[in-house]
Amino acid sequence: MTKYLVVGAGLFGATFAFEAAKRGHEVKVIEKRGHLAGNIYTKEVHGIQVHQFGAHIFHTSNKKIWDYVNQFAEFNRYTNSPVANYNGEIYNLPFNMNTFNKLWGVITPKQAQAKIDEQRSILAGKKPENLEEQAISLVGTDIYEKLIKGYTEKQWGHKTTELPAFIIRRLPVRLTYDNNYFNDSYQGIPMGGYTQIVEKMLQHENITVELNKDFFAKKEEYLRDYDKVVFTGMIDEFFDYKLGELEYRSLRFETEVLDEDNYQGNAVVNYTDAKTPFTRIIEHKHFEFGKGEKNKTVITREYPADWKRGDEPYYPVNNKENNALYKTYKQLADTQAQNVIFGGRLGQYRYYNMDQVIGAALVTVDKEFEG
Ligand code: UDP
Repeated sequence: MTKYLVVGAGLFGATFAFEAAKRGHEVKVIEKRGHLAGNIYTKEVHGIQVHQFGAHIFHTSNKKIWDYVNQFAEFNRYTNSPVANYNGEIYNLPFNMNTFNKLWGVITPKQAQAKIDEQRSILAGKKPENLEEQAISLVGTDIYEKLIKGYTEKQWGHKTTELPAFIIRRLPVRLTYDNNYFNDSYQGIPMGGYTQIVEKMLQHENITVELNKDFFAKKEEYLRDYDKVVFTGMIDEFFDYKLGELEYRSLRFETEVLDEDNYQGNAVVNYTDAKTPFTRIIEHKHFEFGKGEKNKTVITREYPADWKRGDEPYYPVNNKENNALYKTYKQLADTQAQNVIFGGRLGQYRYYNMDQVIGAALVTVDKEFEG
């Protein structure tokens, strides 16, 4: 039997704790915030599950991970179909025939493709090397200007020419009239919210949980008292930033309860112009098809923010420089912290989706317990 300390009660930590406890190990989970579930935390307000840290839509093409997460909650059939508001003009996302039709009046896929080809010709066949080039190469200059540039520069606090191309490849481009934001085989929102998933994972006689506990207040003691530590915080903070700071992006959320039934008619509306200071407004009840009290709705505006020490980090900024610095921290971890497992978006400095977090935790579990 091994004594594990899991630092952080988010999806990575909880998945690891659940699997370790199932195998008879003793697990203590500490969490610096006053609630479980990290950034997937949801809370009921007026019968509506409010995503306290931004929209979370579970999607995966991995049947094993879909079945795995369905142990802990029943999922509804929600399909994410955000709309973009560009200075009052409304477009469907992701980029598909509805978007192309609204923008250019084209009707057929051939016409849309011809328009994209005409606009991307400014790249003269150059292989895209940054987000701007990648975006133009995928959808042409009009969509880049109206739906990508302003949003992306607000979101990341960098020029699109300084950002990696992979970020825009997260979004599908389709020559069909299909507004599904994801290409995955499985998608949905847990009925009753996400928090229950982590609660159920941690409900085991071998697991104890302590909230409001800061690992760094007693780091040396923790490292001494436990056989192994699973650390899901920021890897650079773990090492006291001694090789330098990794870059993160932070967010600020402004949540309001409104005395009306339906504020914006969709769960997610992106504001893609450069001037509006927030990137999106989510109206939580639409994740569960309008469930909740009548004449009440909860909306959240999401403002991107620079990150500095002490702020909540939400996104790693995975450009070349930061990835190179992460690699040096990873080497440090491999050589000087052999009893520590680093996991999750912050521990592994990767822009993971929820299914990838569970996948990464299960890979760690396999390595740890099955050799
Ligand atoms: N994006 C955009 N316009 C949009 C939505 C997304 O340009 O209306 C770009 C933006 O660069 C963003 C990236 O696509 O960071 C990935 O979007 P996604 O919705 O996957 O971001 P997340 O929900 O993880 O913040």
